[in-house]
Formats: sequence, C-alpha cells, structure tokens
Amino acid sequence: MTHSRLREAFDPENFRTLGHELIDLLANYLNQTTAGKRNVINWKDPAGQLNSWKTNLNLQQSPAELFQEILDNSISIHHPKYVGHQVGPTLPVAAFADLLGAVLNNGMAIYEMGAAGSAIEKIVTDIMLKQAGYGQNADGFMTSGGTLANLTALLAARQAKAGTDIWTEGHTQKLAVMVSDEAHYCVDRSLRIMGFGSDGIIKLPVNKRFSLDVNLLEPCFQKAKRNGIKVIAVVGSAPSTATGMYDDLEAIAAFCRLHDLWFHVDAAHGGAVIFSNKYKHLAKGIEKADSMVIDAHKMLMTPALSTFLLFRSNIHSYANFSQKAQYFWEKQEKEEWFNYAKRTLECTKLLMSVKFYSIIKTYGTGVFDEFVSRQYDLGKILAKKIKQRQNLELFLEPDSNILCFRYLKPGMDDPSLNSLNGAIRKELLEQGEFYIV
Ligand SMILES: *Cc1c(COP(=O)(O)O)cnc(C)c1O
Repeated sequence: MTHSRLREAFDPENFRTLGHELIDLLANYLNQTTAGKRNVINWKDPAGQLNSWKTNLNLQQSPAELFQEILDNSISIHHPKYVGHQVGPTLPVAAFADLLGAVLNNGMAIYEMGAAGSAIEKIVTDIMLKQAGYGQNADGFMTSGGTLANLTALLAARQAKAGTDIWTEGHTQKLAVMVSDEAHYCVDRSLRIMGFGSDGIIKLPVNKRFSLDVNLLEPCFQKAKRNGIKVIAVVGSAPSTATGMYDDLEAIAAFCRLHDLWFHVDAAHGGAVIFSNKYKHLAKGIEKADSMVIDAHKMLMTPALSTFLLFRSNIHSYANFSQKAQYFWEKQEKEEWFNYAKRTLECTKLLMSVKFYSIIKTYGTGVFDEFVSRQYDLGKILAKKIKQRQNLELFLEPDSNILCFRYLKPGMDDPSLNSLNGAIRKELLEQGEFYIV
C-alpha cells in the first residue's frame, strides 16, 4: 500500500492515456485557433483571473479538464488575428520535442547529463554560424532567452576590451557601451547589472528612420573619452523592438574596427532574416559582429526559450566564466565543446537544441526562409492597406513584420490622439477578437 500514489503518478499506461487526451485537446485547439473559430484572448482583468484560479484550486478536475481551462484562459498565438508581441507560433513537431525534453529532463550542464542534446547543440549552432556568414573560427551555444544571451555577450565584450582583469579585480575604471535609444531595455539592464552605472550606457538618438544615427558615433565616442570614460563596445539592433527598424550594421562594424571596439548585434527578433533570401540584405554586415543574439522563439517557430549566442571567434565563446567548478570538470581552461555549463550562466539548461533540430530534420531550413519572408511580406501588405485609409496613419515604412500606425481623427492634437488610440487598443483587448499592441 505504501507509495501507491507515486506508483500511479508514474504509471506509463496512465501517461499514454493522458497523452492521447492532451493531444486531442491541443489538436482541437490548433484547429479552432488557426481557423479563427475562437477568440484570440478571453479577457479577464488580473484580479478576476486570480479569483477564478483560486476557485479552481478546490475543484475536482481531471488533468485534461485542467488543461482545457488553461487553454481557454490563454492568448492564442497561432490565431490569424494575433498581431501582437514577438513570441511566434510554434511548430507542432518542435512542441513534441519540447515534451520529449520535459520527460527526459536532461540538464545538459555536463556532457553525460544530456549527451544527445549536447551533440545536437553543436550541430544546430554550426548551422546558425554558417548561415550568419561567420568563418571557420566562429563558435557559440544556446542559452535561455535573448536577455540572458545579451548579458553573456556583453560580459564577453567587457572581458575582451576593458584591458584589465575585471573578473578578478572588479572595475577599476569607468567603462561604457554605446547603443541606440531604441534598443531593447535588456541591454540597459544588463549593463547596470554589470556595474556600468548610468554613465556607462551611452544612448545615441535615432535618425528619422528610427535606426541608430551613425553620424553620432564619433562625436559621442570622443565626448566619452574627454570625460575619462572608456567605450568598449557598440550594440546594434536588428531590428529594434518598438519600431522594427534595422540599424546600419555595416557602418557600426566599420566604426568599431576603426576604434578597436566590440561590435555586438542584438538580433533577437530579426536575426532570423539570415534564412530569408528576400530579406537577408536587412542584416548586411551582421557577419562582421563579434557576437550576435538570435531568438528561435521569436521568428523561428521554436517553443520558448530557445536562443543562440554566436561569436565570430571561438576564444570568446569559451573565455567568459573563468571560474572553477571542480566537481564538474577538471580544467576550466580546456576548450570542451561538450561541457556547456562552462560557457553559459545556466548550470542546468533546457534541451532547447532538440526543439530546433526537430524542425530542421523534418522540414529543412527552407521552412525558415518561407516563414520569415512571409511574415515580413505581411508587414509590407499591412503598410500598404494602412496608407489607403484616410483615418489611419502609418508611422514608418516597415523594415520587418513590426510596424507602427495609429487611428487619426481630424482636428485632434497628439495627446488626445494618443489617449484615443490607447482606448481603442483597450477595447480590442477586452473584446478579444483581435490582438494588437
Ligand atoms: C525579444 C527581444 C529581447 C529579449 O529577448 P527574450 O528572449 O525575451 O529574453 C531582446 N532584444 C530584442 C531586440 C528583442 O526583440
């Protein structure tokens, strides 16, 4: 009689039965959502949502009923009227790979705790390096999200360009990184975590196309120098999150070469264009970056979190955390591609490589070209439709599938228009038929 509940919980036949029920549920969900037969979102305010889940806690409910309730209270990213944030629709095969990873729970910190996943991580990383246009010396790995990847890249930049051993001695001089005003907030956050302070984040205004104004690189660099601040890196956005516009990566690369600075590209969203024959020109110059970040959970149909951090030179892929964890490995300095925890902030890591690999194995990388090109085409189509409407205003011709527009009413000033647009967006959210941000 002892442990009978545990035995039941681990029972493989129960798993099979529940699995079939869950797959049916998800297939129905995908069917309804892709056909637009349900709302994108069933809006409840946070207090209402919390209350209904508090009630749920005491409810007699099968796992399938619970999962159905979660589906009914979650936003449907596969819905054709979901036009919101950047996290993308996942391919079913990659979702199954995620389930596989969840059952295996292979932690991947060291080789034998995820042998297949570790080898596959090298394979998919090599595919990304090649696609990005990097040479033989390049290397990289996967990590949990663009935020963590950007922090890791900036740590590498600091180690390569500060000129002192900050890992051992801490900061002994004022350092700074230059980045556009429009860059993702995680760059600012990472630098503050690293102790750069407000002076260490030099934000450059954008030009009229809302990309980093490259004419300001030199004067801002010289001004920092006069103030005793050592600039170590420039971060380009490909594209920035709010307007979806790509920075001029070629120009930033040339500036960084001139002053021996680290060039990092935050391509979390739009690095995926390296797969698009039609749009890869947008990221021209990305192959000159010392490091880049690409989120597979944004534009490459992979379940979150799945992020690539790529380095032009393999030295930087290994040198970041020169810390001893002797119970794991004998020599930190030895470059072992298969012990990934040497190179990431994570110790235990999700089996993200398998999700990405399952897509490539099943459909080839051509499916990424098809998806990214289609999404960016849709951006252009929407822009055209907006321009045909008198009461809508397009903010900028879009580079990507992110575009900004608003409703216009003659005679209204900007603040009133902004609050009117805010109210429209709130009403759309509460109706739930359409999702827009
Ligand atoms: C989404 C995004 C991030 C953050 O990545 P997460 O995977 O959400 O942590 C960083 N930079 C850009 C440009 C992004 O679009």
